[in-house]
Amino acid sequence: MTVVTRFAPSPTGFLHLGHAHAALFAWRAAEAARGRCLLRIEDIDRGRCRPAFEAAIAEDLAWLGLDWEGPVRRQSEHLGFYAEILAELHGRGLLYPCFCTRKEIRAEIARAAAAPHGPDGPLYPGTCRDLGEAERRARLAAGEPHALRLDVARATAETGPLAWVDRGRSEVAADPAVFGDVVLARKDTPTSYHLAVTLDDALQGVTLVTRGEDLFPATPIHRLLQALLDLPVPEWHHHGLLTDAAGKRLAKRHDPLTIRALREAGRSPAEVRALAGFPDEGP
Ligand code: GLU
Repeated sequence: MTVVTRFAPSPTGFLHLGHAHAALFAWRAAEAARGRCLLRIEDIDRGRCRPAFEAAIAEDLAWLGLDWEGPVRRQSEHLGFYAEILAELHGRGLLYPCFCTRKEIRAEIARAAAAPHGPDGPLYPGTCRDLGEAERRARLAAGEPHALRLDVARATAETGPLAWVDRGRSEVAADPAVFGDVVLARKDTPTSYHLAVTLDDALQGVTLVTRGEDLFPATPIHRLLQALLDLPVPEWHHHGLLTDAAGKRLAKRHDPLTIRALREAGRSPAEVRALAGFPDEGP
């Protein structure tokens, strides 16, 4: 089977060394297996994504010496497709509308004596999961803004226990409940990172999902969506994240070293590849 990997940046800023590491990781994994590496632009967050950053991504990758197979998939062009799948999940009773504002969620969590926590902080307390059908219908009919959340307990009851394979760690048991009832469609966007990434990886025939280990906790949700939607299951390889000399993650710095700043400072592509953790092999 041909190995297919992908690099999937969001055009919300210029690529920095951490992105270069992720891109090179995906590209080299494909190259080592004589496979293919794809490029996907994850631009569903219309408020933060900019066409100029997308153009810069293409330019920076080309300068780094990375080329990509096939057409680039741009998620903003496929919102109708994500909405169709959402409707299917909704029809199966696996989603529920959530009308809560962030403020209401915070207040509800503060009221609970011991609110359960996930990797990103306290979990959604499930307020709207238990709304009566009449209230739900009335609020929808009134056009109240709402997100759609996955009823994780119901979903896992349907799929049974799941596992997945990470090349860096061997088999991992999936616990999709770690994030609680995740949002699959936001109030302002008819999809979410979790849904779009899972559908696109399947649709593009990705067999090896490489990405930073900051996204490791999200993988059980993707595994659950694959099982619910009967999608092929890829392998994963979560890689470490580049840090600066003080151990701070590059992506979290105010002034991450962008590829273009390094280029303007006179660094060569080979030097930047080495800074990103992928020195060229010697002769
Ligand atoms: N778009 C995500 C990011 O820029 C990566 C998605 C993924 O690799 O699953 O962090």
